[in-house]
Amino acid sequence: MGRLWKTGPAAIAAESLEHALNSIDTGILGLDPEFRPAFANTRFFEIWRTRPDDAGSPVTVDDLLARGGTASGSSADEDAWIAFAADHAQALRLDDIPAEPLRFPDGSIVLCGRARRPAGGLSISYTDITAAVRREVDEAIDQLDAEARFRNEVLENHAADLAALAETADESTRRVEVARRELEREIAERRELEAKLRELATTDGLTGILNRAAWLAGCQEEMDRIRETGRGLALLMIDVDHFKSINDRYGHPGGDAALRQLAVTLRAEIRRGDVLGRLGGEEFAIALPGASPEESEVIAERLVERVASSPAAFDGRLIYMTVSIGLAIASRRETTVDQVLGRADIALYRAKGSGRNRAVIDRRADAA
Ligand code: GH3
Ligand code: MG
Ligand code: MG
Repeated sequence: MGRLWKTGPAAIAAESLEHALNSIDTGILGLDPEFRPAFANTRFFEIWRTRPDDAGSPVTVDDLLARGGTASGSSADEDAWIAFAADHAQALRLDDIPAEPLRFPDGSIVLCGRARRPAGGLSISYTDITAAVRREVDEAIDQLDAEARFRNEVLENHAADLAALAETADESTRRVEVARRELEREIAERRELEAKLRELATTDGLTGILNRAAWLAGCQEEMDRIRETGRGLALLMIDVDHFKSINDRYGHPGGDAALRQLAVTLRAEIRRGDVLGRLGGEEFAIALPGASPEESEVIAERLVERVASSPAAFDGRLIYMTVSIGLAIASRRETTVDQVLGRADIALYRAKGSGRNRAVIDRRADAA
């Protein structure tokens, strides 16, 4: 056991010891072997809110400790204090001081220790650790607060990220919708353009009927079909008589007007399914699917008459014209339009040679 370091006369040491004891932050209560209070320092009285007896007369531990209750001001608090003091006095008596700090009724937290005095009795120490504990609790709370704030911040950032993502998704959807609509519009425009181009590619600009390429294609289709069905196909080649002189007399625009009128007259005479086209210049052609040689000859002659009696109105005048027609019937052996057209051309040549304004049928392939 350590010894108290001291020097000089004992009286000075006792005075210094008292001063030292009253200066420390731990309250000390000395009990004699009969368990009576023997001495206490200033801090003890502060912690227990009690006071020494004025006369210094002997007092029990219970009384000494219970006195603090009267300082509380309310009777309920006083009762709580007296009960607490009695419990603690009992614990001291039974030498059963708990290891954990004492919790005083006024909320202060006090560490209690005890030591046996060499002359008998006990020295009890009381150290108020309320402030330290509060600091620790405050720090723990601060720590929890900081963690909560951090978690909140993270959550808020997540929420902001999600909101930004949602906005981006909305913007993307809108852009896709705009692009889709633009694409649809472009497709519609292209379809329209295609239809226009197809029409341009297949119609004759002057008369609005099929041009040469379209007529040949349509005619070939009909030829392929009659080979399957066994029906007949007649081809008429139509050429305006002395067209040069019409041009000479009325000018090129007059010639155009005559060609437009010719297209109108021919179209009025043919049936559905017949194929009318302008092969070029003042040459026209008609395919008559399903017509017999006799029928087609009748039709050709009627066309000759109708054209002659259907003048074009031009510049306040009427332009009369006549046509010569060469007629050929497709034979079973013929597979291309050109073959039949070649024979129609020969018949046309004969019509021109025999006086014009007439139809001539090529009969060479008839028997086949
Ligand atoms: P034929 O009775 O022998 O057929 O005599 P033709 O004068 O009709 O003779 P040809 O077929 O040689 O003359 C065709 C004329 O048609 C020649 C050309 O100047 C004219 N021509 C060709 N295409 C057009 C056109 O688009 N418009 C006009 N106005 N004339 C055209
Ligand atoms: Mg000609
Ligand atoms: Mg001609």
